[in-house]
Amino acid sequence: MSGIFGAYSTTGKPVLEEAYLGLYALQHRGQESAGIAWPNNGRVNTSRGVGLLHNALDQQKLAKIAASSAIAHVSCSPLDLSQPQNILPLSANYARGLIALSHDGCITNLSTLTKQLEQCGSIFHSTTDSEAILHLMAQKAHMQPLDALVDSLRKLEGSSSLLVLLENALVVSRDPWGFKPLCIGEKDGTYYAASESCALDIVGAKLIRDINPGEIVIINEKGIKCLNIPNQNHSIRHMKCSFEYVYTARPDSIIDGRSVYEARKEMGKRLARKSPCPNADIAAGMPDSGTIAGIGYAEEAKTPFELAVVRNRYVGRTFIQPTQKVRELGVKIKLNPISEVFKDKKAVIIDDSIVRGTTARSIISMIRNSGASEVHLRVASPPVLHACKYGIDSRKEGSLAAVRMSVQELCENINADSLSYLTEEDLVAAISLPVNQLCTACFTGKFLPDDNSGQGA
Ligand code: SF4
Repeated sequence: MSGIFGAYSTTGKPVLEEAYLGLYALQHRGQESAGIAWPNNGRVNTSRGVGLLHNALDQQKLAKIAASSAIAHVSCSPLDLSQPQNILPLSANYARGLIALSHDGCITNLSTLTKQLEQCGSIFHSTTDSEAILHLMAQKAHMQPLDALVDSLRKLEGSSSLLVLLENALVVSRDPWGFKPLCIGEKDGTYYAASESCALDIVGAKLIRDINPGEIVIINEKGIKCLNIPNQNHSIRHMKCSFEYVYTARPDSIIDGRSVYEARKEMGKRLARKSPCPNADIAAGMPDSGTIAGIGYAEEAKTPFELAVVRNRYVGRTFIQPTQKVRELGVKIKLNPISEVFKDKKAVIIDDSIVRGTTARSIISMIRNSGASEVHLRVASPPVLHACKYGIDSRKEGSLAAVRMSVQELCENINADSLSYLTEEDLVAAISLPVNQLCTACFTGKFLPDDNSGQGA
């Protein structure tokens, strides 16, 4: 999973500091590395680094550079420090000029494409999905860069929300299935593209709209022009990621016209109707992504809502090294229940999802130690039964708690008094997009036919 941000000023305004700020708003989509690319006298310059944004990039230096277009990237793919070439944006100067690209997604036909490209002489320098796109373009050096890009995009399968920086244009594209979110905004003649609308808010831009699945938007000095990725298969259905609404996206984002906040709250309400917890004294959401579903649950159930579990906001994954001491402390480093709230209470806890089950077991144990008389867990999404093939994360199917155990077994394993989940039907209804436009494959196994697993960007 990644967060991507781009800016193109039609007035010549410098945009690198805004690109940095845009990444700040998208930090939740990736904490392992960050990078920015911009054009400079016909070449492409980059600044890239590992870790959280403020460690990876130098804001002060970027703010002094007078580039009027840029793309930027944060990634959650664990990075081998010996492979800095894997940090996006990838960039190259080829026969037709400069190119840089940021990519959120996972190309599922990558191995086939890589073999074909290598047989034609391409030499890969990184292990990212995204490099294949550069090679596909380079092999079409007889075409204009934009035509070569469009030709390359139609060969990709899987998820690809892309920002491509060319000498005189910023190209924004979303794959024909629309897996990953991508939107554009504008302010005073500068256009922006971002994974989520919360990144437009930070630069004061107005959301224009989401990029449609299969759409290419070209932003240059003349403004905006839209094309479609040519595709022979007109029966392609949209597969917008439902997990964005459950967990991934920030609640202050609007994705495909639906507020993430409202979707999460509705998930909580529907969960309360189907899986009540009679006579609960308090309801609490697991911070941060379970909090809003918790508010919805409490409102519907008419149970007092308490912010009873506190999250340490300053713990970044990058800084938690798995030493023995850290392993012993486990979840306690990030989450802490308030004993005064839980003491002698029957509590219903709302979480967004259960993936491996380790966090749920630890936090329930901590809440019991805080004096709660009963702890009931409600999950605001269906059981996660399948690994995502489209680049959300690299979890393995065998590690998923719901694959290894029945609901009853899992309830006993995490030592909850009761456990229940949202249904798929209620998840789709809460998101409020047509069911045939949503991907729910990690819950249902309904992947696209002929998917081959790849590496996420
Ligand atoms: S499989 Fe799950 S996480 Fe992956 S794109 Fe589909 S809904 Fe999103």
